[in-house]
Amino acid sequence: MVDLAAPGNYNAAMRVGIPRALLYFRYGRFWESFLSGLGAEVVVSRKTDKAMVQRGLGHVSSEVCLPVKIVAGHIAALRDEVDALWLPRMVWLEDELYACPKMIGICDIARMMLGHRVKLIAPSVKGNFMRAHFRAGLEVNPNPFRVARALSRARQLLAGPDAAPDFAAGEKRVALIGHFYNVEDDFVGAAVRSTFQEHGYRVCLKDQLPSRILRTRDEFSQRIRWVYERELYNAFRYMVDKVDGVCVLVSMGCGPDSLVAEFMREEARQKGVPFLQLVLDEHTGTAGLVTRVEAFAELAERRRLAQQAG
Ligand code: SF4
Repeated sequence: MVDLAAPGNYNAAMRVGIPRALLYFRYGRFWESFLSGLGAEVVVSRKTDKAMVQRGLGHVSSEVCLPVKIVAGHIAALRDEVDALWLPRMVWLEDELYACPKMIGICDIARMMLGHRVKLIAPSVKGNFMRAHFRAGLEVNPNPFRVARALSRARQLLAGPDAAPDFAAGEKRVALIGHFYNVEDDFVGAAVRSTFQEHGYRVCLKDQLPSRILRTRDEFSQRIRWVYERELYNAFRYMVDKVDGVCVLVSMGCGPDSLVAEFMREEARQKGVPFLQLVLDEHTGTAGLVTRVEAFAELAERRRLAQQAG
């Protein structure tokens, strides 16, 4: 174990843990590169599994959403393995778009879980993402030039797609709308994705769209002040006319998700686009999910054939 408080100990490789959960699915590659560039030994927790979720349940209220239970499990899995835990607190990003309170609060849960033995490095991002990371980088390596260089190299990994993907005519497509930490965590989203694919559907995801679409501010989206919910809604608006059906993944206990999903449902109904909302928690069984997705895939197929015939 490295004594982080002792001057001169920065040369020893600090083992810094990153939970493979929540914001990892947006910023993970950037964080890994940044911390490695600072000379840290980066430890990413293993993929989510049932045991990981069970472990998380013991540290958070049963009322919180599944992603927060999952990240608690990852923190518990890492705390005996590392000298420090890297868990940025995303408060608000540009345009004063906020993260949800549960996401902001996870750092306080982590602080309680880690006690005094493991250092928590939790840069508070309030508008200026890079400045917060620069300051936090100094906690890993006190050399500001090294921090600036590592940040400059790593930031290239933040770039998202430049352009929207093609939506070619004649292709079977569904939009799978959900937070990146639900869709891309295989424990949560893999069964839904693969079931659509087995039925011949291309699965279109929010994060395949460029940020100029995801961060659009017009009409209703301007009134959504939660940054990742605005992305969901804008992705829905962009894709709803280009797909055979829309499937929305919602976390049980998530207020923002349930509110925005209702607006999506209503707009899909007005356009006559099949809409499926799947509410996920730790009790959701794969078999039940697959059955619902299969039934929905058939419904979407019938509508597609009817449109072709008409
Ligand atoms: S937005 Fe919803 S799912 Fe995401 S952390 Fe907040 S409450 Fe949980």
